[in-house]
Amino acid sequence: MLIDYHLHTARCGHASGTMQQYIDAARQVGLTEVGIADHIPMYWLPSEKRDPEVAMTDKELTGYIVEVQQLQQANLDITIKLGLEVDYIPGHEKAAEEIISSLPLDYVLGSVHYLDGWGFDNPEYMHKFDQWNLYELYQHYFDTVCQGAKSGLFNIMAHTDLIKKFGHRPNWDLSPLYEQVASTFAESAVSVELNTAGLRYPALEQYPSKELLKVLYKHKVPVTMGSDAHNPQQVGQDIKIARQMLIEVGYKEIATFSNRQIKYCSL
Ligand SMILES: [Zn+2]
Ligand SMILES: [Zn+2]
Repeated sequence: MLIDYHLHTARCGHASGTMQQYIDAARQVGLTEVGIADHIPMYWLPSEKRDPEVAMTDKELTGYIVEVQQLQQANLDITIKLGLEVDYIPGHEKAAEEIISSLPLDYVLGSVHYLDGWGFDNPEYMHKFDQWNLYELYQHYFDTVCQGAKSGLFNIMAHTDLIKKFGHRPNWDLSPLYEQVASTFAESAVSVELNTAGLRYPALEQYPSKELLKVLYKHKVPVTMGSDAHNPQQVGQDIKIARQMLIEVGYKEIATFSNRQIKYCSL
């Protein structure tokens, strides 16, 4: 079963194309189920500090929900789930929870894009990698990801090793960190996303790496797939490669979600 649970929309200010174009593209790629998971409004910042090129505004949230529901009504041959990509910002869990619980979501993707306010996946702030010992940075990053998993806010942890996006990798053995991530995900009953966007960046591989994916599989962490598409051309991109990798690692089922409840389907 081919799914893509990580699609953005033009509402976030850095994606393009209409939602119908995303669905037309999904059909072409042969996806049977998709999930729209646009960025949550920047709830952890006062309104005047929110960047319209990062996420939709509070006011746009209602329109987003309605548009996804209408999209399903207009495209009955393909299952369309309502998701939301939610930034995990330590200390702001309550504000996130308030928004999430007010919406009829099928699933919530949990993402770490910021470490102590540093948007590390934004090329504009890439120079800050130089200020870090990379192993300590990875430790800090994965600690934050684990804290997010434990928060109970999320169904699926998105692009779990995003910190490698621009190719910064410590030459230390990362397996103790991978064990920590996988056991925390298993205990917290979150799923993990196999996200193909890393193939489009200097990381040159999916998130998570095959090595981390193997550890996640060993801990029986359920898995979904996503392209992180920010335009219709990226819908389902490399998703067949991702599916093949899941099979190689041993996965036989893919996790899908309705009303925040997990359901397993054969891969
Ligand atoms: Zn985005
Ligand atoms: Zn993301």
